[in-house]
Amino acid sequence: MKCEQVQRRLSAFLDGELSKKQASRISEHVSGCPHCQQEAESLSAAWEQLGEMQEVHPSPHFWIKLNARIAQVEQRRFSLDKVRRFLDRLLVPATVVAASVFGLWIGGALYDVQRTDEPEVWEQVTASLYLDALDDFPAGSIGSVYMELISDQEGL
Ligand SMILES: [Zn+2]
Repeated sequence: MKCEQVQRRLSAFLDGELSKKQASRISEHVSGCPHCQQEAESLSAAWEQLGEMQEVHPSPHFWIKLNARIAQVEQRRFSLDKVRRFLDRLLVPATVVAASVFGLWIGGALYDVQRTDEPEVWEQVTASLYLDALDDFPAGSIGSVYMELISDQEGL
């Protein structure tokens, strides 16, 4: 028998739960293997210490209080799950609304700036929004069409 097999059955062996044949095989291995002997001794010592521990007698209301507490925790978790699901459902529409508001704000700001007859202000604004990156797009591309739309000029 291998040490691993013996050690897996040590607990059952010490409790006398094995058949005579299995018990004698394990006993034979343990008596000839210092490693498994050590393992058996420490397991047996742990069982002895557990047996010496005082038995706890809970109050008669313990189980009722414990069940109430578990129900309370589950109720709270259920409420948090509901809030989380609600927020998850809200996240996508909120992001779309925020992006739309931001887009409208940028569009409005560009429209206002574009209406001023100061080309240097327009250049500053487009540069700060990195819209000048669209200047390099060839005629007829999305970038040039966008610049046409917001600048009200043709053939940018
Ligand atoms: Zn062994």
